Amino acid sequence: QVRFLNVIASEADRMARIISDLLTLSELDENQVHYKVPEAIDVRNVIESIVERMGMTAKKREQTLIYHPLNEVPIIMGDRDGFERIIMNIVSNALKYTPSGGKIEVYTSKVYKDICIKVVDNGIGIPKEKLPNIFDRFYRVDKARSRDTGGTGLGLAIAKQTLETAFNGKIKIASELNKGTEVTITIPVQE
Ligand code: ATP
Ligand code: MG
Repeated sequence: QVRFLNVIASEADRMARIISDLLTLSELDENQVHYKVPEAIDVRNVIESIVERMGMTAKKREQTLIYHPLNEVPIIMGDRDGFERIIMNIVSNALKYTPSGGKIEVYTSKVYKDICIKVVDNGIGIPKEKLPNIFDRFYRVDKARSRDTGGTGLGLAIAKQTLETAFNGKIKIASELNKGTEVTITIPVQE
């Protein structure tokens, strides 16, 4: 009974997550994020606390998760929850798609007029021919390899759309199968 109740609870959580992801996407489609009051976002601070929180998961998986704040990054204004969600998804992808013993590194820097955030892992990677689809809604590279990780394939679609709509930013993914993946986010510094 306890086992089945646990399954029910985790499936209910999963359904709640899917619904909230779909709501986020439909809000983004309607451009409603613009009506949220912009908050000050201390990029380094936000990332540091996310890395700290996810450190527990990494430790359980015997992975190394390190944050390298390379230089000072200016405060940006915008949807703080949206920003946190983007980073959470990308770091959690890096953990999910990297076998135990792997390494995940997060970098932040200011390069010219851009804030640059990089998440680099040495995990399973993405085959070249699948890369163009990676930001599609509900797209998952290979159901078999990620069956135990139970995602929906909405994370990257949300990340890309939030970045573009709310931060005027960009996201790029470079990857090599069985070598690792590098996700790069750039957000222009606001005057
Ligand atoms: P969700 O984020 O909605 O819970 P998800 O993680 O499967 O589910 P996305 O974050 O959109 O969905 O990622 C889409 C797919 O891209 C993943 O299913 C996975 O196959 C691939 N992928 C994403 N990040 C990585 C990574 N760092 N290494 C290898 N494959 C990745
Ligand atoms: Mg994801």
